[in-house]
Amino acid sequence: MLAGGTVASGANTTTGSIQDLERELEKHQAREYRRLNLAEPKWPVANPEEERKQAEQYVQRTARAWNLNMQQEAQLREKVMARLAAVEKLRPPTRYENPATYRLIRRWAGIIEDTARSNFDPGEVAQIRRIVFGTSPAAEVNAMHFPATTGGSLVLFNSGWFAFADLMSRALVLGMPTYLAQDKRLAGGTWHALSTQEAEVRKHLAQNQQILLRFYQPIYGYLTSGRGDAAPPFFFDALDEPREGAAAMYFDAMGIFVIAHEFGHAVQHSIKIPTISQRGIEDENRRRFTWEQEVQADNVGVVLGYLALERRPRNLPAILSGISFFLKCTELMERGASIIATGQENALVLSSHPPAAMRRQLMHLKLREFLRQHKGASYSDKEWEEAVADATGLERVMEIMWERTRPWFVDANRRGEKLSNNFIRK
Ligand SMILES: [Zn+2]
Repeated sequence: MLAGGTVASGANTTTGSIQDLERELEKHQAREYRRLNLAEPKWPVANPEEERKQAEQYVQRTARAWNLNMQQEAQLREKVMARLAAVEKLRPPTRYENPATYRLIRRWAGIIEDTARSNFDPGEVAQIRRIVFGTSPAAEVNAMHFPATTGGSLVLFNSGWFAFADLMSRALVLGMPTYLAQDKRLAGGTWHALSTQEAEVRKHLAQNQQILLRFYQPIYGYLTSGRGDAAPPFFFDALDEPREGAAAMYFDAMGIFVIAHEFGHAVQHSIKIPTISQRGIEDENRRRFTWEQEVQADNVGVVLGYLALERRPRNLPAILSGISFFLKCTELMERGASIIATGQENALVLSSHPPAAMRRQLMHLKLREFLRQHKGASYSDKEWEEAVADATGLERVMEIMWERTRPWFVDANRRGEKLSNNFIRK
């Protein structure tokens, strides 16, 4: 049901196989690459036979070096081959998929799939349409979901989205000044925390102007080149320790939520057909239908995302912050696109999803209701308010950075810069 066909699904779908879906994905990608006049990507080509040969050589070498008996050698071989099989399963299904992005998507999808299986009614799980995840250079600004002609669903992320979100999570935490927070439970009693207080953030940004460039460049680069990684390579370098952890947490929680939202579409068998020709002017009915589908997918997404993070500490602030981070990134992409294309901030819409503020508000309502109903024993208003405050703080920092870099987008418009074809609706 989820990508790669790892589950021999007993789904009573009358759908084609995972392989059919993957072939359809590849056809779609080929079409989009041609339409946008893009060169085919050249990822390193895997050679499974050679890899197996090397693994066998490794087993024999190790057996000799450690003087293993036959039983020990067989055990080692089994382990090594199982690891190899796991790697093979994460191999991209088409030649257009970036192997690194694909592994990431699959990891999140695996987490969401496990969460669904351990929390949903098995009958319900069996009904879920098969999904194959992939990327497309011209997909909607983050992700889109559509039924495949062979049955099942294709979920397509914009090829650049994850590299872009990675860069944005780094820019975001760089915008937060660190301070020493007190915690008596810790040895030493203090730890480095990140501040989202307005006055401190503004002061920090005024003293570190280059942070604004790290915020501006990913948005501007993505919008004008179509590439989510359009930034100097050192933008991806490891950050200081408190920031590296925070950036990874936002990025990871966002990924889990995004996949959970798309999973929500599949759960509800919702059929949304965002073909390129239809994505222009939508009539009111069509828009209302689409928005309803999106709200339902968000409702599944927020609960599933929360449950997926449940075993981790601070899961509530993580999911709320992940959602805020995701919605803010989407919103900023739209605002940036609109200014570059028209000089005005709200003149252009890139997404068929409801406005970010509305989605956030509805998801908060949904999750709080879920927690009160199903997690009543551990739910507390105080913890809820603190988690919301964390997420609001994150949004505040992104808003301040936007406000400070907005004139640069206006300049880009005045210089006559153009949006990349990947983002132009036909
Ligand atoms: Zn959606």
